[in-house]
Amino acid sequence: MRRPLVAGNWKMNGTCSSVAALSQQLHEMKLGGEVDVAVLPGALHIGQAREGLKGSSISLGAQDCSVEPDFYARTGEVCAAQLADIGCVWVLVGHSERRLMLGEGNELVARKFLAAQSKGLIPILCVGETLAQREAGDFWSIIRGQVEAVVELAGVPAFAGAVVAYEPVWAIGTGKTASPDEAQAVHAAIRGWIAERSESVAAGLRIVYGGSVKASNAAELFAKPDIDGGLVGGASLNAEEFGAICRAARI
Ligand code: PEP
Repeated sequence: MRRPLVAGNWKMNGTCSSVAALSQQLHEMKLGGEVDVAVLPGALHIGQAREGLKGSSISLGAQDCSVEPDFYARTGEVCAAQLADIGCVWVLVGHSERRLMLGEGNELVARKFLAAQSKGLIPILCVGETLAQREAGDFWSIIRGQVEAVVELAGVPAFAGAVVAYEPVWAIGTGKTASPDEAQAVHAAIRGWIAERSESVAAGLRIVYGGSVKASNAAELFAKPDIDGGLVGGASLNAEEFGAICRAARI
């Protein structure tokens, strides 16, 4: 049985006071238990969220890391060693906003994935197709290429203990969610592709869904056999809504 994960991607949102308030609200809600619950604040606010969540079972993560795992001359970047030092457990790599707006390609994302793992962080590899790619038909080859880049660099064992987030780009921040069946089909295809290379890695791999997850649609999505939780953007900025999504992920 895979333990569900619900991670809140706060993106480039928050001020010192809003992060303090949200962290305190989440702390008081006593989330967790049968579900791994994580928040991924902007890098500036990770330390503050850590203080606000001290003593709670909510873990911390980041939204990106440098390809350089260690301290280095990379102005403006944050390395995995720094993220581990501040208490992060997780780090997103390859979020579509970075792939599309900052031009991050599969090979760079795969190197970030390995940089994260080399410092003991758990990478959450974001994959997903744009609307144009879905409408063009063979969108599975896009997703497979995003997963395959990691396998080419480090082999399938790199996915042991890691997380994949399937986030159809057309569903992110748009209010449009993939239907539970549409999402399940892609999750099953990802797991199947990994299983062709290692059944044990595939069986343990958490594949979470992201794209306009809300309290009102979470339970239906999470009930699917290959959906192991969610990566939540907009709705994670509201403690009540996020709490309800976490409760929907209970096994
Ligand atoms: C995201 O950006 O990872 C995301 C899933 O956003 P939203 O939930 O707002 O669609």
